[in-house]
Amino acid sequence: MKIRVQKFGGTSVATPERRGRVVHHIRQALNEGCNVVVVVSAMGRKGDPYATDTLLHWIEENGQSLSPREQDLLLSCGEIISASTLSSLLNKEGIPNTVLTGGQAGIITNNQYNNAQILTINPSRVESELEKGKVVVLAGYQGKTIDGEVTTLGRGGSDTTATAIGVALNADMVDIFTDVEGIMTADPRIVEDAAPLEAVTYTEICNLAFQGAKVIHPRAVELAMQTNVPIRVRSTMSDHPGTLVSSTHEKNKLAGEVSDRLITGITQMANVTQIKVPAKEDQYDLQLKVFKAMAENGISVDFININPSGVIYTVYDHVADAAEEILRSMELEPELLRGCAKISVVGAGIAGVPGVMSKIAEALTEEDIPILQSADSHTTIWVLVPGNHMVKAVRSLHRKFDLHKVHVTNS
Ligand code: ADP
Ligand code: MG
Repeated sequence: MKIRVQKFGGTSVATPERRGRVVHHIRQALNEGCNVVVVVSAMGRKGDPYATDTLLHWIEENGQSLSPREQDLLLSCGEIISASTLSSLLNKEGIPNTVLTGGQAGIITNNQYNNAQILTINPSRVESELEKGKVVVLAGYQGKTIDGEVTTLGRGGSDTTATAIGVALNADMVDIFTDVEGIMTADPRIVEDAAPLEAVTYTEICNLAFQGAKVIHPRAVELAMQTNVPIRVRSTMSDHPGTLVSSTHEKNKLAGEVSDRLITGITQMANVTQIKVPAKEDQYDLQLKVFKAMAENGISVDFININPSGVIYTVYDHVADAAEEILRSMELEPELLRGCAKISVVGAGIAGVPGVMSKIAEALTEEDIPILQSADSHTTIWVLVPGNHMVKAVRSLHRKFDLHKVHVTNS
């Protein structure tokens, strides 16, 4: 049985025109002889009546609050409404289908409401519907606990549903349909001439996604990677095949000339605070004290730099006040710089290649952008810049590495 999973994000199901395109893609997969599982997100973005953010704010706006369990019950409705809407369209087109909630599809999670992890999937119900010749329309972003409680999967949850069910069903392909042509060399909302990539490896897209490229959730990619299910990230509005995400081996086979590129893309993460804690004389245990205090208060730290004069690190802006208070209560004198942006230059080809950092420094210096901090690994170089320089920094790095020239060749 050839199985295709197709996931449609919030914007892809937001309007009648787009939902028409969704039906078109389902029909195409059926025509290719596939059994189809469609995973949908809630329709639209904040402000749209049944969007996840709208549901989330519905209770808050009225000055009330819900406990996490009840919040998940409410949130799971967005995807169920979306799935039912699509089902009615498929009925109109004469395409037999069944709607399933995450729980009905056998997605079992732990009981961490709002951000549950999938423990196992029992796909027998989905398989039996497919055997009956039906399209399964699956509500994304949700599962149930072993006791039958409804849970939601947190950010990027529908991506996770799609790859998880793809792995469980041993699908031939998981298509992530969205509002851009594929995975691009930078966020197209920031860089106008960002180019869609023909193919990337799981590792490359994980690196991009972890560093802020929100086009697909890294957790979803990690799942697909376990069993090598290929993913395509593609546009709902076109028939373009988009970006193929697979293992190195397949990528080399399918896109030989792109495989030895140096840089895959540039990503950005806004709303970061840099914290500098100067060491007092003979204070050798400063880093131990600082990071222990952060950990005990559940504040995650990044971009850590330790030297004899003190420690420097970053936290998200929304926990900066809490971090400052903790440090002051320890009689330390932190300096905080809020509203910074972390820019990442990502590429598996960076390892051991001389001159990448100097090119980054050149690009930023030419634009008078101060580098507040930098770090590197074998696949990524990070720089921290003041937030008001973020857009300019991403654009200048994109230009410096000629990324607009990476063109899709399989169109
Ligand atoms: P969906 O609702 O379909 O899940 P998302 O908003 O989660 O869509 O993801 C698509 C968005 O990801 C695009 O509109 C784009 O602005 C953003 N994005 C960020 N970085 C990239 C990138 N490198 N390539 C493609 N899209 C990106
Ligand atoms: Mg998304």
